[in-house]
Amino acid sequence: MLGDSMLIAARRHPFFYYSGQTVMQTMDDKDPTLFCINAHILCTRTVFYKDMFECLQTSTTLDGTSDEHPIYVPFQTKQFEAFVAYLYKGPDDWPGDQGRDLDFLRSILQVSAFLDCDDGYRWAVKNLDPLPHMSPALRLHLASAYRVDGWVEPAFKALVDLQNPLPSYPDALEYFTLPDLAIIAHTRENIRKSRQLWMLCPPPMHSICKNSLKCQAAWTSTWWKGLGPRVFHPDKPMSGLQVQKLLEGDEIAGICKECKANVLARMAEKDALRKEELVVAEGLAQMQELQMGRPFGALKAFAAFGAPSNSPQSMPPVPSQV
Ligand SMILES: [Zn+2]
Repeated sequence: MLGDSMLIAARRHPFFYYSGQTVMQTMDDKDPTLFCINAHILCTRTVFYKDMFECLQTSTTLDGTSDEHPIYVPFQTKQFEAFVAYLYKGPDDWPGDQGRDLDFLRSILQVSAFLDCDDGYRWAVKNLDPLPHMSPALRLHLASAYRVDGWVEPAFKALVDLQNPLPSYPDALEYFTLPDLAIIAHTRENIRKSRQLWMLCPPPMHSICKNSLKCQAAWTSTWWKGLGPRVFHPDKPMSGLQVQKLLEGDEIAGICKECKANVLARMAEKDALRKEELVVAEGLAQMQELQMGRPFGALKAFAAFGAPSNSPQSMPPVPSQV
């Protein structure tokens, strides 16, 4: 059997036949670092390098062949290191608990988005999603920067929830652009106005019971003294729908069951209580439109770093799909 196999020309395994190491240098101002990486793995895991190395194969360039002629990659060293660790060592084999820490995952998301590494992108999104320190502001920031479309809606709704504070200056500058802030601030302001409007117009109670005057007086008192402070609370203001649920679930002191049912039915008819949903939906549509118009992946990274002055010919081409 051994003799037979020696007579047949061996084929190259389609995946596990590595050839060619490529030298790459990070464009990190403080810690520029050379990596010598297997080009085959880069090509099979990323669309970006698959396209790039196809171009290089037909050229006589020395790029990537030595430390003196590296291919420049537009990432900080820590970012690229995390991505290479993901590719080579596996995400669970990277120092200690850091395999699940925020910076490590953000780096893999960023580099994967740039290089069009689908499995790295999906793995980073999946593991970032449940992190407890993923604030709504950071979630929207990452959703914007790396086009994680599924994160825009939950992040935006949390950011315009008046019970959640917005990051203050200068932290806000890390997460939001001016258009982001304008849409968020405008939506919060419209929510506040809509609450003030319906709060100023309590649903009328058309009492039918024998103690109607007493019930009406109790309802007026409940509205202004019981609900007003909750709706206009500076830290935890209640929405119209929250007020409605509160009234449905609680006894209202001094109001009989018939009158309570009467006034809750009128409250349910008030479109004003649902105006807030329309305001949020309008703001969300603006935010999603903003996301769609933003540069993404390679275009974004090149805009941030620019081309290296000492070796402009080493910059890989920008793939058309990004
Ligand atoms: Zn009554």
